[in-house]
Amino acid sequence: MNRRTIVIATKNNGKLREFKSILADAYDDILSLTDFDDIPDIEETGFSFRENALIKAKATSDFLGMDAIGDDSGLVVDALGGAPGIYSARYAGDGASDDENNKKLLSELKGEKNKSARFVCCIALVLVNGTQEFFEGECCGQIIQEKRGESGFGYDPVFYVPQYEKTMAELGPDIKNSISHRAIASEKLLSYFSNLK
Ligand code: IMP
Repeated sequence: MNRRTIVIATKNNGKLREFKSILADAYDDILSLTDFDDIPDIEETGFSFRENALIKAKATSDFLGMDAIGDDSGLVVDALGGAPGIYSARYAGDGASDDENNKKLLSELKGEKNKSARFVCCIALVLVNGTQEFFEGECCGQIIQEKRGESGFGYDPVFYVPQYEKTMAELGPDIKNSISHRAIASEKLLSYFSNLK
C-alpha cells in the first residue's frame, strides 16, 4: 500500500503541531520544511493570505516534487484597519518574538474601545498532478489588555474567545484545535479529500 505523505510548508513548530493533530487520520507521514536541509527560504511576497499560502505550497511542492500544503494565517484587528493581518509574524519587526508582537499589539490598541478581532487562516493545497485548491477559516474574538494562559503560540494569550470566556492560550490544544481558524480551514481540506474518494 502507498503511504500518503504531505509536506507542510512551515518551520513554525506551533503550527506544525496543530496540523499534525488535525491531519493525523488523513496522512501516514506529515513532514515539514524542517525535515529538509536544502530547501531555499520562501519569501512571502503576496498581498493576501491566499497569495502567501499559494506561494509557500507551490514553492515547496515544486522544489521537492511532493504534495504540499501552505498555510498563511494571522490576526485581523478591526480597530487597526485589519492589521497586523498578513504581517502578523513580523508585526514588531523582522524576527520579532511572540512577546514583542503582543506588546506592540497591546500598545497600538491602548485606549481603543473596539477590541474585536479575528484569526484568519488560508490553506493552499498543491498536488504534484497540478491541482490547486484553497480552504479558509476564521475564528472571532476580542483582544484583552493583559496576557492570560500558557498554551498555544503567537497572539493566543491576548485573544479572548467569548464563547468559552477564556483566551486561546487558556483553552488548551483540544478545544483550540476544534474551534480555531486553522481547524475550520483544515476541516474543509479534510472534507475535500473525503469527497474525492
Ligand atoms: P505565518 O507563518 O506567516 O502564517 O504567520 C502567522 C503568524 O500569525 C504567527 O506567527 C502568529 O503571530 C499569528 N498566528 C497565526 N495563527 C495563530 C494562532 O493560532 N494563534 C496565535 N497566533 C497566530
